[in-house]
Amino acid sequence: MIPITRPVLGGAETIAATRVIRSGWITQGPEVAAFEAEFAARVGAAHACAVANCTVALQLALIVVGVGPGDEVILPSHTYIACANAVRHCGATPVFVDVEPGGFNIDPEAIAEAITSRTRAIMCVHQIGMPCDLARILPIARAMGVPVIEDAACAIGSRIEVQGRWEEIGKPHGDIACFSFHPRKILTVGDGGMITTSNPEWDHRLRLLRQHGMSVPDTVRHASPRPIVESYPIVGYNYRLTDIQAAIGRAQLNRLDDIVASRRSLAARYRVLLRDIAVECPEEPAWARSNWQSYCVRLPRDVSAYEVMAQMLVDGVATRRGVMCIHQEAAYADAPTPHRLFFSERAREECILLPLFPRMSERMQRRVALTLDAAIAKTRRSIAMPFVVPPATQRGLAF
Ligand SMILES: *Cc1c(COP(=O)(O)O)cnc(C)c1O
Repeated sequence: MIPITRPVLGGAETIAATRVIRSGWITQGPEVAAFEAEFAARVGAAHACAVANCTVALQLALIVVGVGPGDEVILPSHTYIACANAVRHCGATPVFVDVEPGGFNIDPEAIAEAITSRTRAIMCVHQIGMPCDLARILPIARAMGVPVIEDAACAIGSRIEVQGRWEEIGKPHGDIACFSFHPRKILTVGDGGMITTSNPEWDHRLRLLRQHGMSVPDTVRHASPRPIVESYPIVGYNYRLTDIQAAIGRAQLNRLDDIVASRRSLAARYRVLLRDIAVECPEEPAWARSNWQSYCVRLPRDVSAYEVMAQMLVDGVATRRGVMCIHQEAAYADAPTPHRLFFSERAREECILLPLFPRMSERMQRRVALTLDAAIAKTRRSIAMPFVVPPATQRGLAF
């Protein structure tokens, strides 16, 4: 069986976790501070704040830029549901817009059309690691005075060209960027998140919010020769990352260059192996360098993605459906969808993710290509089929 992914974890992570357990300080403390500093240095950010996962990172990002009840947040529907959940948890309304015709990222023109006097933020997603078109999104947002939150859950190690120089996603280029350390992402600590920004006041507020609104963090209190009594100026949350996770994250960060280099060469090889197969391979714009968190191919119109996936599973190759559409889920059945979402729905129906993970051999990739080719041939029909997920299998197919 060829799995969809396999996290890169080894001796360095085991040693790091053991070191923290032996130290006697296991939740947010010195390791979190060190992880934040190393992460900020890596992406070129002024500030990095670690939190429990990317969903709460997005929620806190929305809060500090001022999103609250009654506000609208523009975001793609063609993304993971956590994006809209974060908006709803702020009491705000998600306004879904379409993706670009050939790709999986938000269409900048659709953003311009959806902005109203109630728009309080734009959440753009670097979907499955492919940078979205910030060079076109940011001028639209700045002209309207709307902050941009980058969902970089999958995008650590991806780059964009800015005025002739390659820069890391997360600098951030918008106002705030949010990352995930779930095992399906590039780096993992089990579950974890990181928020980067250039704004020191927002960073300060993020740190208050993630730890109960506490004025003085326990690291400072413990290091003080005199007793410090903290105060609670605002209503906060407990969204802390633990020191055990942060230590694992530091070990993971040391592997980032190798992981991205490996993923990039695997993606390049897929492109060659799939050349004569009836699928559309993803395109990387000249100004972007993807980390290829997922390799998403578009199937021909006369097969059902579900049937191709089922056939490949029988043949020993795990796949996943492509990116979901939030507006098609029951949880968002009541969300107004005034904007066209045609290319989103089409991408959801036509695309599947192929296995891609560091240390995947050329032989495995060849087998994936052959299996995909055979599955398409075997399931081809005379009429195009919609993407239908039978309810009984929905859980097994989930993200
Ligand atoms: C994974 C993912 C999230 C959620 O990240 P968690 O760390 O699991 O909360 C949010 N947005 C996108 C685009 C993702 O891929």
